[in-house]
Amino acid sequence: MTSPRRRFRRYLCQTSPDPIGLEIDHASGSYVYTTDGKAYLDFISGIGVANIGHTNRQVVQAIKAQAEKYLHVMVYGEYIQSPQVDLAARLAEQLPKTLSQVYFTNSGTEANEGALKLAKKFTGRKRLISFEGSFHGDTHGACSVTGREIYRKPFEPLLPGVTFLPFNDFDALKQIDGFVAAVIVEPIQGEGGIRIPDDRFLPALRARCSKAGALLIFDEVQTGFGRTGTLFAMEHWGVAPDILTVAKSMGGGMPLGAFISQPKIMKSLSVDPPLSHVTTFGGHPVCCAAGLASLNFIIEHDLPRRAAAMGEKLQAALRELAEEIDTIRAVRGKGLMIGLELFDPKQTARFVQRCLKAGLILGWTLHTNTVVRIAPPLTLSEEELQQGFRIIQKALRK
Ligand code: PLP
Repeated sequence: MTSPRRRFRRYLCQTSPDPIGLEIDHASGSYVYTTDGKAYLDFISGIGVANIGHTNRQVVQAIKAQAEKYLHVMVYGEYIQSPQVDLAARLAEQLPKTLSQVYFTNSGTEANEGALKLAKKFTGRKRLISFEGSFHGDTHGACSVTGREIYRKPFEPLLPGVTFLPFNDFDALKQIDGFVAAVIVEPIQGEGGIRIPDDRFLPALRARCSKAGALLIFDEVQTGFGRTGTLFAMEHWGVAPDILTVAKSMGGGMPLGAFISQPKIMKSLSVDPPLSHVTTFGGHPVCCAAGLASLNFIIEHDLPRRAAAMGEKLQAALRELAEEIDTIRAVRGKGLMIGLELFDPKQTARFVQRCLKAGLILGWTLHTNTVVRIAPPLTLSEEELQQGFRIIQKALRK
């Protein structure tokens, strides 16, 4: 019998020459456990998914209960399925009044696809605006608005009429005019290197879009559900988009995403022609049951506040460390979405490897390989925070 590692290499399409390659036995809370009996502290939450910790018991119970009742019964939008309705209503309760109708998808990419199509259909316009350094997903549409050329080039021709503006550049906003259907933006750029805009940027962007009649899409796939210290990152700036997209941690570990807007805009998907945008599995009842349990857990345990407090503590410790050693270039973040910027990619890769060896999972952001993402579960204990920090400290001091 060949080893699982060889079978993984042989039978699964590889997405990089050097995958992390941990062989997973189980996962719980802040840890993933490998088949050789080791425990790894997960400081990236499976890349922004495990906000409520791995294998959360409330979510597992909800999955089991729904799985006993029914699995898939019909394509999205035809039958009344209480897991979908209950989650949509609970979400709408947490959001600004204009974000009151939900379209469920299987992923963040699909949420953005839907949002872009919706904006084009509602406005009748064709142009799209995105930002340099953004990441919105890997299907043709989402890839077309992803702000890094090396990931677009091999797949061209992509969508025509997309313009990329520099992120956080007020002057560039003038380019948003009456031909633009939508502007898509991450309130905090994740893969771009945990980039936080100036406090006035998103309000200025909101005002410009309103003036031009372009729909504003906030991609909160990575920043949503408490990660940045508020339930949604937009709350930091008191601005609401016309369309919000979410996914990743939304399903509590199950595949679930959504685009959310107001009935007047959403209506354009059911007319001229009806069934303008459909999905078979989007809003799978088991995923929605998991999503509701996850959202309830986040609210009941006030995880956004916890993320804000823990994040502040961790950032302060990292900044103190940066004063003491010269291998850290910058520390930035909001809540438990933190970027630790080092000086060069090789040093960053070595640091991440050292941490892994010591039992801490970290990684760099897709577009910026000198920025290490620190995004542990929001349920992280004080002790786990200290443990992770000690490993980081030791690996940087070497
Ligand atoms: N948008 C943002 C901001 C993301 O970070 C990601 C994934 O990393 C996506 C969209 C794509 O989400 P998914 O991988 O669920 O398709």
